[in-house]
Amino acid sequence: MPKEIFPSSFECDCGHLSDFFENTVREIKAMSLKKKVYLADSAPEEHTIVFYRGKMVQIQCSKQSQSPETKQSAPKSRPSKKRATTRGIPDEVKTNVAAIVQHFNTTVIRNPHCQYVPRYRGKFLYLDRQDYGRLSPICRLEYTGKMEDWSFAIYKYSDERYDEEEWFFSGAEHVDGTIEGAMKAGLEAYPS
Ligand SMILES: [Zn+2]
Repeated sequence: MPKEIFPSSFECDCGHLSDFFENTVREIKAMSLKKKVYLADSAPEEHTIVFYRGKMVQIQCSKQSQSPETKQSAPKSRPSKKRATTRGIPDEVKTNVAAIVQHFNTTVIRNPHCQYVPRYRGKFLYLDRQDYGRLSPICRLEYTGKMEDWSFAIYKYSDERYDEEEWFFSGAEHVDGTIEGAMKAGLEAYPS
């Protein structure tokens, strides 16, 4: 433990003695009542005396700082892999979706001026449709972990929102958990 040696010297655990003017120490202690204040000595192996609430609380030692501080900071700097994972839709699923939508556009709709356009937000896949330059929301699918088991919600223009409770629309019978089924339903609900 570092020692305060009356009236204005401080001894580090390493044996180093830091001497200050009495006035300096008195002023620093007064300043430290509300916040931590650091007082560095001018010795070649520098020591910084830390004051808080009118007292010396710590001596930062240039000789000893390396070993204990690296030990302390090691766990903090370890990267957390769990936090880095997102809860959204995996990239490989999005690649799959892009291929399915593209295939549907070219083989089912077969009109270069009409096409489904996927977009994402979190675990949701939104299928908009571009009809002659106008982009309109059609439906929203929620990813549940399987390509054949998406939760479906049709866009309701009357309410300007997606509604997973709404099943009274033409084309609803096509909804089967797949993206193709959702696009077929959307095509009947909102003909292009
Ligand atoms: Zn020291």
